[in-house]
Amino acid sequence: MPEDRILKRAAAYSVLLMACVLLIPFVLKLEKGKVTYAGIFPMLPTTISTMLPISEKESIKPLSYQEDPNCEQNAKQQIPGGISEDIKERLGNNFIVVEKPSHLSNSAMAELIDESVDRRIRFIITDSFETKIEENQIYRMYQGNYFKGKPESEIHTKDTTSNQASTTGSNENSPDKEELENITVTDCIKSLQVNSYAYPENECFKTEITLELNKTYAYLFFEDDYNYYISLVRPKDIYDKIIVVDAGHGGYDSGTYSRDFVYHEKDMNLSMVLELKELLDKENIKVYYTRTTDRGLTLNQRVNLANDVEADLFLSFHCNANDERGVHGTEVLYNEKQNDWTRMNSKDFAAICLKEVVKEIGLEDRGLVPRSKDVYIVGEANVPVALVEVAFMSNQGDLNFLTSKEGKQKVAKGAYDAILSAYKKLGQEDKGQMAVMR
Ligand SMILES: [Zn+2]
Repeated sequence: MPEDRILKRAAAYSVLLMACVLLIPFVLKLEKGKVTYAGIFPMLPTTISTMLPISEKESIKPLSYQEDPNCEQNAKQQIPGGISEDIKERLGNNFIVVEKPSHLSNSAMAELIDESVDRRIRFIITDSFETKIEENQIYRMYQGNYFKGKPESEIHTKDTTSNQASTTGSNENSPDKEELENITVTDCIKSLQVNSYAYPENECFKTEITLELNKTYAYLFFEDDYNYYISLVRPKDIYDKIIVVDAGHGGYDSGTYSRDFVYHEKDMNLSMVLELKELLDKENIKVYYTRTTDRGLTLNQRVNLANDVEADLFLSFHCNANDERGVHGTEVLYNEKQNDWTRMNSKDFAAICLKEVVKEIGLEDRGLVPRSKDVYIVGEANVPVALVEVAFMSNQGDLNFLTSKEGKQKVAKGAYDAILSAYKKLGQEDKGQMAVMR
């Protein structure tokens, strides 16, 4: 029925428009001839931007990657328009290129959204008329290899499964399998999607490219007349200080409850993190939040983010519960497998967190707890991790504290002090290291 379709369309447009409006403040507009860095977390961004001018007059030289012997499989393929020396220098070794549609208008805008905890980026081109980008207009250069269009891992997924099913016990070194393994490790993207949307109310069209990456990077992005470029960078190479803050549970996973089931742990954790965010936004620290909304995440996603970005500190917020109503207070879990680290380890960071948080909130100090074996994110973190069990939701006194605005603010202040104090200690360690080197 046509009316039906119109209604459905209108509903879809309004949802998309809402998403669009929500995203606008958090993306950086690409200006022609400039390099913009975007470190953007969806919805609640932390941005550190550098603007690096690219001379527009500089001539575009042909791409010389084809001379690289590691790149022989693609020797005949080139990035459209070639890449100028200037851009090549900025791109580094690993990057993604999106070929511009030929009829792009001067008012076209490109935005890069970093969904770091999902190992995903969304690249959105907005223009006054419909732009068309095909999958084979998306190129990657990764670890000396060149890729174009859909990632091979996506194309071969079916083959791999049927292969495994039909060749049980067959030679492990068969060329097919070797080739497939090679393909999955060398492309930097795991999936690629291109979607187009029309926004008649705003008289604009959006082309959205969603790329799932093999890990979380920091992204530098810029453009020339032919292409958009997204350079994949190690976060440590551009940020001085990096932390990952995790609000435990979320979405389908509520965590523990108050005894009357009115309060859910996931909400307590999130509101403490949002209070902490207000304090950290004023600091020159790159903070990756696993979530700033009520959304579900796997434990892997949380710990992968901390490991991918090589966080200096990984801080997770939780609330406790016990069958005994009388049990109350604060404890901090740490990874005792890191005890032989020479630099700050999990126990050092956990001790700082316990001290600062207890000092601020004044609940009972229950001490540090080694939990690498049974608490996944603690055990799997390759960075200094502290999981703060702030208070017991099963204890009325603790619960009163947790549910008050003032209580949450105190927890945030304690955690904030702990982070600054940990950086102070890390700074002293670095100075000590330099003295030893001399
Ligand atoms: Zn929990």
